Amino acid sequence: MGLEEILSDVDGKTIMRCMSCGICTGSCPSARVKKEFNPRRILHRVYFGEDIGDEIWYCANCYTCQERCPERIKITDIMNLLKRMYLRDKGYLNFIKAVEENLKNFGYTAQLNEFKNKTRERIGLPRLKSSSEIKLILERANENGQA
Ligand code: SF4
Ligand code: SF4
Repeated sequence: MGLEEILSDVDGKTIMRCMSCGICTGSCPSARVKKEFNPRRILHRVYFGEDIGDEIWYCANCYTCQERCPERIKITDIMNLLKRMYLRDKGYLNFIKAVEENLKNFGYTAQLNEFKNKTRERIGLPRLKSSSEIKLILERANENGQA
């Protein structure tokens, strides 16, 4: 997992511009919940060619860091690349299997149940029903050898 691969894939050069202001970490919703997750530190570890651990999976792909970075560093795109590299080098993680099962069964990455629907109703959101469309897409992708 090296800087060269990052530079040649998603980024090109923006990672080199980090001035360590900490805005990315300060505005990251996952870092607020998981103290061990620190996007700024992850970028620096990538820069110095250090291994990235499992904490990369705390990134929720919300793009807040990338939107707010004053140096316009493609932080979320780099996080996504790091996840792809993680899967390639270290393999599939158990929690991804659970996400895949939820997608197949409910059409969403989280389990859909009465408790979740009641919570949605309480905050004024409509109830959700399971969707079979994703299941169909996954089945077709499997048939075509793409999943
Ligand atoms: S917001 Fe941008 S410049 Fe600031 S620490 Fe994060 S990556 Fe570096
Ligand atoms: S994209 Fe990931 S690292 Fe960036 S703010 Fe969102 S959760 Fe944090």
